[in-house]
Amino acid sequence: MSIYTVKAFGTAAPEADLKQMTIDRRTVTAKDVEIDILYCGVCHSDLHTARNEWGGTVYPNVPGHEIVGRITHVGSGVTKFNVGDLAGVGCMVDSCRECDSCKGGLEQYCEKGNIQTYNGHDTHLNRQTFGGYSERVVVDEDFVLRIPDKLDLAATAPLLCAGITTYSPLRRWDVGAGKRVGVVGIGGLGHMGVKIAKAMGAYVVVFTTSLSKVADAKRLGADEVILSTDNEQMRTHAKSLHFILDCVSAQHDINAYLKLLKRDGTLTLVGAPELPLPVSPFSLIPGRRSLAGSLIGGIAETQEMLDFCGRHNIVSDVEVIRMQDINEAFDRMLKGDVKYRFVIDMASLKD
Ligand code: NAP
Ligand code: ZN
Ligand code: ZN
Repeated sequence: MSIYTVKAFGTAAPEADLKQMTIDRRTVTAKDVEIDILYCGVCHSDLHTARNEWGGTVYPNVPGHEIVGRITHVGSGVTKFNVGDLAGVGCMVDSCRECDSCKGGLEQYCEKGNIQTYNGHDTHLNRQTFGGYSERVVVDEDFVLRIPDKLDLAATAPLLCAGITTYSPLRRWDVGAGKRVGVVGIGGLGHMGVKIAKAMGAYVVVFTTSLSKVADAKRLGADEVILSTDNEQMRTHAKSLHFILDCVSAQHDINAYLKLLKRDGTLTLVGAPELPLPVSPFSLIPGRRSLAGSLIGGIAETQEMLDFCGRHNIVSDVEVIRMQDINEAFDRMLKGDVKYRFVIDMASLKD
């Protein structure tokens, strides 16, 4: 297989900063498109993976799975895209395509494991996959998304992970008019969850640990905002919510949130802290409550989400940074000091 090299930013060890490096990409095969990356969002999963917080990171690691760009080459068998089209790539670049999950449009739950955009196994080059903190990426057209025309491009990039990761469980648990929904942790995922749940017609209650986000969450669309460190405010919301989307990246007490669910309510974790979260049986039993998890979304649903956001004019609130500022951005993200998503302007990598 023929390869070429591109500039990228990645890390060689869990405790090392990200720095510029050179990686290889395959030249397009029949079903591939090559994308010149314009913007890439900075997801907390990038940080968890770069620092090996979940274990299993293969180094060097080049993160980035909120990719938007323009197509520069298409393979001879490509039918869905043309050179010059805008395109997006999210958290997966392939899957087995044969198992029940893949056939059901749920490639993220591929029984053989989906191939993640970074730190997955690249079956073409037989090494780890490298993500969007790079100049170009080559992806099978079946895992490439169409980007709605009118949306701001930098602010659209986070839809490819934060957007679909919140949209999918909101759809799965029937969020809409007449439903009271809690969103916990207003970072990249949480702020998209608020916007999308509101656009679906739900009554949205935000739970944040950050005083500075209390007023701002109303601007994002929240009907109510609760400072989760205030026990009295938490108590007044007991048994009031049909569904809670937990987007928190670090240790926190999920029992405090399970108690806010009505009978038969569900709390779904999308946030993935590195350590187990203790659950008291008595947070679940008395209200026949459920605790669930959800992983990104399938390709068809990701396109549905992008089209939904296009219709409702929903994008992420972003702070655009240079690639060279990524280490500072990681540190600020850990402090919750971003409203609400860093997005890398990939032109800075060409400097
Ligand atoms: P983020 O932008 O850093 O947001 C995380 C938010 O969690 C913070 O803004 C903060 O919200 C809250 N938080 C942070 N530390 C906390 C603590 N110690 N106690 C309580 N709250 C805390 O991260 P993100 O990119 O949205 O990602 C969130 C999580 O989802 C990460 O673990 C990420 O890996 C995971 N993720 C999962 C999927 C999936 O498919 N399931 C996909 C993408 C990401 P407040 O300031 O409002 O309290
Ligand atoms: Zn992500
Ligand atoms: Zn499969």
